[in-house]
Amino acid sequence: MKPIIFTTALALITACTLAPPAIAAPNAAKLKSEAFTLIDANADRMGRLSDAIFSYSEIGFQEVKTIALVKKTLESAGYSVQTGVAGMPTAYMAKYGSGSPVLGLMSDFDGVPTASQKPTSLVHDEIVPGAPGHGEGHNTHQPALMGAAIALKQLKDKYNLPGTIIVYGGPAEEQIASRGYMVNAGLFKGVDAMIDVHIGTTLGTSYGYSNNAIISVEWSFKGKQAHGATAWQGRSALDAVELTDIALNYMREHIDPPARIHNVIAVGGKQPNVVPAEATGWYYFRHTTAQNVWQLFERGRKAARGAALQTETELSERILAASWTFNGNQQLAELVQKNIELIGMPQWTPDDQQFARALQTSMDEPVVGLPTKVEPLKKAAQATGSSDAGDVTWQAPYVRLAFPAKPPGALAGHHWSSAIGPATPVAHKGIAVASKVLAASFIDLMTNPAALTTIKNGFQKQLAEYPKWKSMIPPNATPATHLNVREMAKYRAALEKYEYDPDSGKTYFEFLGVSYPPAIPGSAIGKASNEK
Ligand SMILES: [Zn+2]
Repeated sequence: MKPIIFTTALALITACTLAPPAIAAPNAAKLKSEAFTLIDANADRMGRLSDAIFSYSEIGFQEVKTIALVKKTLESAGYSVQTGVAGMPTAYMAKYGSGSPVLGLMSDFDGVPTASQKPTSLVHDEIVPGAPGHGEGHNTHQPALMGAAIALKQLKDKYNLPGTIIVYGGPAEEQIASRGYMVNAGLFKGVDAMIDVHIGTTLGTSYGYSNNAIISVEWSFKGKQAHGATAWQGRSALDAVELTDIALNYMREHIDPPARIHNVIAVGGKQPNVVPAEATGWYYFRHTTAQNVWQLFERGRKAARGAALQTETELSERILAASWTFNGNQQLAELVQKNIELIGMPQWTPDDQQFARALQTSMDEPVVGLPTKVEPLKKAAQATGSSDAGDVTWQAPYVRLAFPAKPPGALAGHHWSSAIGPATPVAHKGIAVASKVLAASFIDLMTNPAALTTIKNGFQKQLAEYPKWKSMIPPNATPATHLNVREMAKYRAALEKYEYDPDSGKTYFEFLGVSYPPAIPGSAIGKASNEK
């Protein structure tokens, strides 16, 4: 018995040492103002982490350094972090606390191929020629989540606030590739509310049915290799890919207008005098509902089967990923909107405004500077984009927060001009504002159980308006972690020379030797450099 008594006594002593009686929690308004002070104190750090992630320039499923940095940061703040979730090495879940409510924060962190660009440079100015870069600004997302998560943890400890905070990191968003698998692995079960973040040019949120459902598929053909000079001895897999594309292009006239099909030839042969025995076409199908996109995809399948028949090659199919549309929760969006209005836009400095005007002049866009007003709450319209976060919106009450971390005026993303803004003081200020909205919204949910009940009831009604969600990812599919392995390997060593150490004494600008703000150019130099 003795050892048991000793252990129990020790456990009690340890528990008392680790968890001193918490101070009675002040009201939500005071908690929020305390959270804002904590976030402001940590803002420079989060800005530096964002710049470091920008400098890593990692694309989908290759976000190894990014995840190491995020893991280290959240672990040292007291979160337990699990990487490699749902079979993807760079997917993670970080948890703190226990019990109800279970509040989720989520975002992605991948870059874009061939989008390398020096921040603040107003012409096409690659850090490493041909390399990937953050040409959409996803580098800002994790610091926005972490800023909130760290402040919330501190407040939970101090005041013994209830509930569990879970931070979710979904890799390879640009390939729509991770969140569907995370959903199917059950990682979002029991989540009471989920806030996702995405870089934008202003602060706002929306709700309702939006975006397109999407299916990402590889159709691979196997033919017979032969010498190009005696090509009749072979059967070309590349021909099959080309015939699939021709059939799909004819089909475009006979699909209803919101539908979209995009493609690249992922494998197309090595040289003209070798008949390619292997070729792969990679396609995204998009449509307004999961049901519509599945029908469209089945029509596409006929094109691929027909091409295999015509070329006497063998077809194999791999659905890499798929997602339903977005279905954002109105009641949660209303709660988040109140905090958006409470916090407001960042306090831009004259330098920030000069940077924005310089960028806009260089891109030949309206010279409007940085917005100073938040967006009103919107019912979302159905746009052409898609994200794998779509599947998550059907699992728990969900909203997406857009936060201002780049000036308006760049192209919409997936382009070097979109990498001019997201590693600058504008981004750093936007990140802090996003963290504040997240923290304030979760404080509301931790201190007002009635608000959470309203949100959850609203979610049930919202789901009842649509067919029941069912994953479009086949049960035997595995995450496409092969994507981008070669592309990233080509540039890793060259990019390493430009990796920014967030603990260094220098800012990222000092490290890169660029100045802020850039001078306002006399002409549309950025636009001209894009046309060359
Ligand atoms: Zn994005």
